[in-house]
Amino acid sequence: MIRTSVRLIAAAALGGLVHTGVSSADDSCERVEYVMGTMLRVTVTATSRADACTAVDSAFAVVHRLDSLLSNYRPDSDISRLAQRAPEPVTVAPIVFDFIQETLTWAHASGGVLNPAIGPVVELWGFYGEAPSRPEPAALKERAALCDLAGIELDSATAQVRLRQGMQFDPGATGKGFALRAADWSVARITGTRTILFDFGGQIYYRGDSVADHAVLHPRGDSALASVVRFAHGSLATSGDYERYFEQDGIRYAHILDPRTAQPVQGRAAVTVFARDPFVADALSTALFVLGPEEGAALLDRYPGSSALFAEWAGDSIRFVTAGRWDTLETR
Ligand code: AMP
Ligand code: MG
Repeated sequence: MIRTSVRLIAAAALGGLVHTGVSSADDSCERVEYVMGTMLRVTVTATSRADACTAVDSAFAVVHRLDSLLSNYRPDSDISRLAQRAPEPVTVAPIVFDFIQETLTWAHASGGVLNPAIGPVVELWGFYGEAPSRPEPAALKERAALCDLAGIELDSATAQVRLRQGMQFDPGATGKGFALRAADWSVARITGTRTILFDFGGQIYYRGDSVADHAVLHPRGDSALASVVRFAHGSLATSGDYERYFEQDGIRYAHILDPRTAQPVQGRAAVTVFARDPFVADALSTALFVLGPEEGAALLDRYPGSSALFAEWAGDSIRFVTAGRWDTLETR
């Protein structure tokens, strides 16, 4: 256990996760950069500081490259070209093809509550811009018709992807988890790496040679903790109503939408998911934010290594509900 050398590595300003426990020995290297619209902190310990820094460099190179391919804010990314060129098929980088294919697999597994075709609706609510507001029902209905998973066609022989006219692919729910997994693979190829910690704007990925404590912040309490869990390898992803939201007529509208209604999910402050694979944690956190603890239980049961902590609104206060194996991970 690393807890004796505890130091606070990260306290995500927007709630989410705090991690304690990476050693501060000379053989570690740490850097923070802005990428994919948020801060990424990478900390690696290795047999030498030079190896640790090589690993940090390689992690950032992977995440920056994926940002340039997957961003729906950059007009020249593969993901943006899909929407610009629809309904023409577009040849994308193999890694982008994998990302789209895997996200779609999870979308179907979730019964469609994870829906990367939700872009036109997210855009209409204004969540991609500076001034979101509640849209007109007629316009919303028109956009909702474009969020059809069947309108995304993949041809693996040519690595081509085709969207129906008017559709957009939103990488927001799974992009960070996918990038964390790719960064981990790249770090794992560098000899001598022992412990890696990624803190990616609310998602943690940790792989170490012993267990460490990872704290989940309370969604409304500055630095109060909702839970502390212990593991040696895995990821904690949080989807929250505090990350991007606006208020209108006393109602809070946050950036995670229920594709069945095209409305922001109500009644839930956050969901944190533990899974070994950071992509799985990211996909599940968004899907479970839509489903909630009751409806979400069946989905979680299908992935036995995963667990969740739901922060449910009960009037003005928050009630925590655990699911899967969360209680066995929790240390307080
Ligand atoms: P996350 O923080 O991982 O839960 O991802 C939230 C982001 O995914 C939002 O900011 C939207 O861009 C996008 N999004 C919102 N609702 C959904 C949904 N139901 N399925 C897939 N992506 C969504
Ligand atoms: Mg997610």
